[in-house]
Amino acid sequence: MRNKAMHPSEFITVAEAGLSKLRQPGTMTEHERTALRTRYGFLLSSVYGRGDPDLDLSREELCRRAELTDAVIQKVEAGVADLEVCIRESGPDIPAPILSPFNRIKRNTKNNPLRNKYRMKLALLEKTFSQFAISENSFFYALHGETRKNSVAAFRGYDRTMFVPEKFDPENSYDALLVCHETVHVSIDDAQREHIRTVDDARRYLEGHEFFAEAPGKPKRMLLNEELVSYGLELQIANLALGGALESGAGISAEEISTRLKARPEQCPGIDLLFDLAEKFFPEGKSHTPNQPYPPAFATAIIDLHKGHGYEVWSIDPLGRYSRIA
Ligand SMILES: [Zn+2]
Repeated sequence: MRNKAMHPSEFITVAEAGLSKLRQPGTMTEHERTALRTRYGFLLSSVYGRGDPDLDLSREELCRRAELTDAVIQKVEAGVADLEVCIRESGPDIPAPILSPFNRIKRNTKNNPLRNKYRMKLALLEKTFSQFAISENSFFYALHGETRKNSVAAFRGYDRTMFVPEKFDPENSYDALLVCHETVHVSIDDAQREHIRTVDDARRYLEGHEFFAEAPGKPKRMLLNEELVSYGLELQIANLALGGALESGAGISAEEISTRLKARPEQCPGIDLLFDLAEKFFPEGKSHTPNQPYPPAFATAIIDLHKGHGYEVWSIDPLGRYSRIA
């Protein structure tokens, strides 16, 4: 850490130079713009509202959503904390990766006083933003709203925003499980950002986000490597919350899972999917440890699931090269 502070990378130096020019339009270099967009994408999207129709609102509407979101965030953080208590009751030796989404959310609670994105926009409008210390790798919450009402939960990497449903219920462990899944995407994004040293790295990072971002008239794309990790952890957390019933082959039914997680009736398709994936993830009642390779049938199920929803499925190799899975 000391080294990092003494010798900031090219990326950080250029991003900070860009930040200091933020209020002087036209003077920023292309390099500065790239580094700034990578390091402070959340800030740029809030300043300009670009790419975020949820923030392009009257002050009155921003205040209304900010209040609503305060309440939703409280419920999300309480629901996820309860789920952690529940899985910790399953035994003392829970592998660190399984606890990582819970720790990630708590770290954000502690380090990001403006995690309510509407509050951040209001602070920018009211020029109180600089009073808040927002640590690097913070993430933000915004409401599903009308545009995402059919989606269960989502994380948008370029401005570090997690969209959470207005009706999140802290008693419903399936709601909390979905937030854990999205939090795995936050951690994957954290790891990618940690590797950025040069402006070229930042450009490649942004290109990756651009490639997978959903936009009208563009094919929907997903990255298999990420979904294997996030669904894998979701299943392991669900399994512990259900006292090991998913891996033991004890013959638990989808209905029983739904009852025990206190899921709502409209979440049935999600529970059915969890049930179906669990069979492939924990084959023949065998347990799964975080460093074990994923069973091929599980990967196939994740591929088919997304193809079925009209996605192009892509993977990335250790050298950072993308290829499409036919
Ligand atoms: Zn996912």
